[in-house]
Amino acid sequence: MDRVKRFLAHGGKASVICAETTELVEETRKIHDLTPTTTAAMGRFVTICGMMGLTDTKEDDNKITAQIEGRGPVGSLVCSVRREENVSKVKAYIENPYVELPIREDGKLDVGGAVGNNGYLNVVKKNILTDSDYSGLVPLTSGEIAEDFARYFVESEQKPTVLALGVLVDQNGTKASGGYMINLMPDATEEVIVAIENAIKGIPNISNLIEEGKSLEEIAKMVTGDENAEEIKEDISIIYECDCSREKFEAGLISIGKEELEKIYNTDKKAEIVCHFCNKKYDFTEEDLKKLIDSI
Ligand SMILES: [Zn+2]
Repeated sequence: MDRVKRFLAHGGKASVICAETTELVEETRKIHDLTPTTTAAMGRFVTICGMMGLTDTKEDDNKITAQIEGRGPVGSLVCSVRREENVSKVKAYIENPYVELPIREDGKLDVGGAVGNNGYLNVVKKNILTDSDYSGLVPLTSGEIAEDFARYFVESEQKPTVLALGVLVDQNGTKASGGYMINLMPDATEEVIVAIENAIKGIPNISNLIEEGKSLEEIAKMVTGDENAEEIKEDISIIYECDCSREKFEAGLISIGKEELEKIYNTDKKAEIVCHFCNKKYDFTEEDLKKLIDSI
């Protein structure tokens, strides 16, 4: 089961969130029939969104929705995460899942080329208790996802963040995936900053560490350069789960208005709605449509 965990390092002067998301990314790949390049793009995206689900306390129970519009061949990417008990539930959408680009000269998948960098990243946090919204928008830096979110954390949340996301794919699917994000506390000393800088300089890609079987605790110690980094007791798992339902799509049909519904009723006699996030199909028969029209 995929996990996300938070650790404190350097006597509480830095915090790090580490996540293993191999199953989440593989599930995303299967649902959307992704190519290696779009698996890497979506994999990095669902990983950071799953990690953001942990940064909020229970009292601050947010539903987070992030959207990337890079104007590259993949089109729009949307990911949403909500917390239920000790599970972060993630769902995601990609406009063009079948995009595949040549491997870059450095041997890496061309995520930036697929996503594009001529657009923006938008994050909306909806607090479920207070029903208030917070939203932050930043221009895309590279379309490589990690750099773009790092910019979002600095510019929108005023939280300088070291962020790494990695997805290892082959023709059979997702081999390993994960991420880490490090935040410095306001009282972090120069010594702590240098220790972390030196630690992250020398370590391999996070997806390689996951593939080697390193635990999240071992990764937290490696990336902070602190052997005594300590886990904060929270046992959170991350899964892909859509929250669509027939009732939600009924409400959607009603919201298009009586006139439009009557048009569908009189011409197609039926409606088939496919959820963009999980590809589940909902069929509405002539009789179902009549009932909805009568209910307006
Ligand atoms: Zn769905």
